Amino acid sequence: MNQSALKNWGFPVGRTFVAAGPCSAETEEQVLETARALVNKDIGFMRAGIWKPRTRPGSFEGVGLKGLAWMDRARTETGLKIGTEVAEPSHVEACLEYGMDVLWVGARTTTNPFSVQAIADALRGVDIPVLVKNPMSADIGLWVGGIERLANAGVTKLGAIHRGVSSSLEMRYRNAPVWTMPIELMRLMPEIPLICDPSHICGKSELVAAIAQEAMDLLFDGLMVEVHPDPSSAWSDASQQLTPVEFLSMMNSLEMPYEQS
Ligand code: PEP
Ligand code: MN
Repeated sequence: MNQSALKNWGFPVGRTFVAAGPCSAETEEQVLETARALVNKDIGFMRAGIWKPRTRPGSFEGVGLKGLAWMDRARTETGLKIGTEVAEPSHVEACLEYGMDVLWVGARTTTNPFSVQAIADALRGVDIPVLVKNPMSADIGLWVGGIERLANAGVTKLGAIHRGVSSSLEMRYRNAPVWTMPIELMRLMPEIPLICDPSHICGKSELVAAIAQEAMDLLFDGLMVEVHPDPSSAWSDASQQLTPVEFLSMMNSLEMPYEQS
């Protein structure tokens, strides 16, 4: 339990910490519409992917730099903090120019130590919160190693995100949760806040609430949830995103097995 760290880093925290927003920034209007739906709802930060490392070529790979300006505008208009995924040093540099509030390293990037090291080197001397997703596979060493690389570069505000692990087998979940991984991470790095990403675990919106509840029951410090004003028309991850109404109702229904502090 390290939720106080998230508060100390300046993120609003309600019943639990939660980052919410679309898988991808698509248009300025879509980013602003999402932000307007999330304002004043105890959202830690609004997420949106600008650069999207996709498994196969031909999928939407993000709007790039112009998305930063849209997110910046959403922040100015609503007061929400904003965060996005970085996969290489040029992404870090662009985000720092815009004063992005938080960065995260995606699952495909955590899989590659040289990529994480390049990001860590670009962050030397910068005091920004960075969240590290577990790699695509159930390899806790790569996850811990990614966090260590950033810590060794001087990043002090570090968190971890469990987003499940991929498989080519037909499964209930898109990326099945492997709860032993975050539990082991809590043991190895007890000071690191732990966040669950039920959206990428589930792959289907109707499963998200149950996994979010499971994470709360396992004493995770927070959630990162994909929220889109019109999920069925999303340019990426259409089947797993919640509408703002679905998201807020899920947050209200979550049972906290203990008082979060
Ligand atoms: C995302 O957060 O949109 C994303 C691509 O997640 P992951 O890196 O966990 O696949
Ligand atoms: Mn996504």
